[in-house]
Amino acid sequence: MPKPEFNPASEVSMVVQTLVREFHPHLVRTRVECWFTDKEPDTSAAWGHVKLVTGLAARLAGQNPEDGDETEFFLLTVSKPVWNTLSPEKRRALVDHLLCHCWIEETAKGNPKAKVVKHDLEEFVQVIQRHGLWRDDVTKFVEVGSQCLQSSLFESPDAVETSGDRNAQRGAIGPVDATFANASK
Ligand SMILES: [Zn+2]
Repeated sequence: MPKPEFNPASEVSMVVQTLVREFHPHLVRTRVECWFTDKEPDTSAAWGHVKLVTGLAARLAGQNPEDGDETEFFLLTVSKPVWNTLSPEKRRALVDHLLCHCWIEETAKGNPKAKVVKHDLEEFVQVIQRHGLWRDDVTKFVEVGSQCLQSSLFESPDAVETSGDRNAQRGAIGPVDATFANASK
């Protein structure tokens, strides 16, 4: 199987800059690298991927590896074949999704620490079909989805509240979100 090819994704970087200002202000001072892969995705989850680069890898990817700077950063890879088929609004949605994985938390000493967080909801369609809205996070997801259906998200994106303020979301979703946030990638 041929190895995937990677290329810098300045188009994605531009969307990142806009969305960080709009919805992810906690990332303003965080380095976010964006690359395209030519890999055809086998699932929707593979449309894009987020990785936190730390330690020696971060140092080697820095401007001056000799100076010992190991400042960690987020690496976003996006499938170019998928990107090419998406409308501008869906590209924003994909990048927004990837940025929601990028979180900065405070250590006990008050220092910022980057981490990759999981989705607000991990669930199977069959379970909802059989057992209904059995958890708060499922209910929350369906509520927001219903609002989107009613206001046709991709026809009039401004009609839907799309706040990316994770703190606000965390308040609404509560401990379930924290459970996912604490799980490893
Ligand atoms: Zn995701």
